Amino acid sequence: MKAHVTLIALIPWLATHLLAASIAKPNIVYILSDDLGYGDLGCYGANKVRTPNIDRLASQGCRFTDAHATGSVCTPTRYALLTGRYAWRQPGTGIAAGDTPALIKTGTTTLPSMLKAAGYKTGLVGKWHLGLGEAPHTDYNGEIKPGPLELGFDDAFFIPATGDRVPCVFVENHRVVGYDPADPIHVSYGKKIGTDPTGADPGVKLKIQGGPGHQDTVVNGIPRIGFMTGGKAARWVDEEIADTLTAQAIKFIEANQAGPFFLYLATHDIHEPMVPAQRFRGTSGCGWRGDVIHQLDWCVGEVLATLERLKLSDNTLVIFTSDNGGAIKDTYDDGTNALHSLQAPNGLLRGGKGSLYEGGHREPFLVRWPGHIKPGTTSGALIGHVDALATFAALTGQSLDPADAPDSYNVLPALLGETDAPPPRDHLVLQNNGQTPLALRQGDWILIEKGGRARSTNEKLSPPAPRCELYNLAVDPAQKSDLSTREPGRVEALAARLQDIRTKGHSRP
Ligand code: CA
Repeated sequence: MKAHVTLIALIPWLATHLLAASIAKPNIVYILSDDLGYGDLGCYGANKVRTPNIDRLASQGCRFTDAHATGSVCTPTRYALLTGRYAWRQPGTGIAAGDTPALIKTGTTTLPSMLKAAGYKTGLVGKWHLGLGEAPHTDYNGEIKPGPLELGFDDAFFIPATGDRVPCVFVENHRVVGYDPADPIHVSYGKKIGTDPTGADPGVKLKIQGGPGHQDTVVNGIPRIGFMTGGKAARWVDEEIADTLTAQAIKFIEANQAGPFFLYLATHDIHEPMVPAQRFRGTSGCGWRGDVIHQLDWCVGEVLATLERLKLSDNTLVIFTSDNGGAIKDTYDDGTNALHSLQAPNGLLRGGKGSLYEGGHREPFLVRWPGHIKPGTTSGALIGHVDALATFAALTGQSLDPADAPDSYNVLPALLGETDAPPPRDHLVLQNNGQTPLALRQGDWILIEKGGRARSTNEKLSPPAPRCELYNLAVDPAQKSDLSTREPGRVEALAARLQDIRTKGHSRP
């Protein structure tokens, strides 16, 4: 009798574990926030802004302390995330304009195309910023392609470039949402076009003031980078962007709940212009910058609640991270700028967005997969956003051709907390907004090129090596002591390895 009872008691346990063992392809929700720094979340030490929903991913999953966006600005990071290839290998992948043609060649193996081949339904919601259409410039009238659909996404609802760049419209699959053929859209990143007011015109009523570089066409009372005409009915309202994208993310999850699905949710928050919905204003005490962090946390909470409501939480791997470090800037003046710095974006790290110091690229990185990742854990493994492709290929049993994802490492053992596994990477290359300068992280050390390429003396090129900086992050995480003059041998060795990675064209083992 006792044995019988014990067996019955075991049935739910057996059912759970047998089910878990049979799951090879969990749903994947990859949330890439924008310009959120290493210190901007409660679970990374922020004590003024409150991020309970995002913090829940940390308490229910693993919090990484040495994860890096491979670029310190938007476009290079997104390129590397989706292709598994460092963006600096391809010229022209710096911050894209709103009329830049597609930057990733159709036919490239991408994160979504690989997962699609593995049987996933793949969706993009949010910021694209990887160029659209054919050269020389994107045409927003008619079918806009190639774009996300040609690179492996089944569905896409997206911001073409950034919130502060024209055109200020959403695109769904191949078309501008709310497009009116009687009001065609034209975009210029050179000369002014059309008669719409600009931020530089005297007497224009503005919601927020634009700073340098943000003085062109005014949309929704906010001056942008670049000029646009037309598309009046299609133009977004900044205060509603988070609500719109959150609703689209939920719609995608609901429509594909039979799974497996891959949702790439690239939020607009907390990129500028930081314009929170009314209900978030004043909630943080850190100005609108803090308020949009609260808005971002709300968005994540809605996505997690949707997974819960549809009973998908246990079979969904959720990642939350950011595309580059945080910044306190005065590009726009929203009237609360004096309060922004009450929240230190990057904690104690040096530098921020656009920098090769740690503050530019070390990111909050949280992974939750109940039953597979131990709750409340922390990992110090070195990983990069460029690793997503090889990692999810390993997770879903897909093989990669040697030419695919040339810089992507399988870091799955680190994500799953396999502490006896060797470190997934011994090095990582970081970039800002172009081919040079770069930084090479190796072990505890980081070599940062200053103003040009670091060259090994073995290299028969002139001019000689520009000055580099060298830091030991194990003892100096705030990068206060440049050791380059004390450690010339180490500088030489790291410069040689960086040159080798540059020349070879790939770094994946
Ligand atoms: Ca960014």
